Amino acid sequence: MATQQPGAEQCPPSVCESSDLLLGFVNTGPWGGNPETMDGAEGLTAWLTRAGLLDTDAGAEAEVTGADAAAARELRDAFTMIFRAHSGCEDGLEALPSAERYVQRVAQRYPLVPQLSAEGCRLVPAQDGVLGGFGALFAAAADLAARGGWARLKVCKDPSCHRGFFDKTRNSSGLYCSTACSTRMAARAYRSRSKKSV
Ligand SMILES: [Zn+2]
Repeated sequence: MATQQPGAEQCPPSVCESSDLLLGFVNTGPWGGNPETMDGAEGLTAWLTRAGLLDTDAGAEAEVTGADAAAARELRDAFTMIFRAHSGCEDGLEALPSAERYVQRVAQRYPLVPQLSAEGCRLVPAQDGVLGGFGALFAAAADLAARGGWARLKVCKDPSCHRGFFDKTRNSSGLYCSTACSTRMAARAYRSRSKKSV
């Protein structure tokens, strides 16, 4: 799993680990002028390895196929749609029910099992390899939902950005991934208001 990021101490580490994993996955997409990085088996292998979800020492990367990468992109699109709904995006929201049905259906391919210890219980993927990597995304979603953080995973409302981010505002009202995006959108709104008033 991802290591704790500097500055992550404002929120519990496991929340950050789960949200980092999901956002890292969503942000492999071609948003904000970035290239698509999940365009084949190689791209998926690179992401799984970076996220610590694939044991390349055991040769697990040989199992990854182009079909897995296509499945990863479909799953990413569904997560992205759900995070867009969390941001209150109305544009294209009619696709939300099918995204929800999709994640509910494919979750059956990536079962989770409870891992119990004296300290507690967490859900972990029942499989290893690529399937376990996908399972880890569902485990992270379940972990965040249990901690009340699921709805804080959003997509930046700046149309030139659209990156996934974790909303750390006190009342979950954040709409932009960074101050650069919120400043740009405020400037754009100001310009369109002044145009109208001319
Ligand atoms: Zn942004």
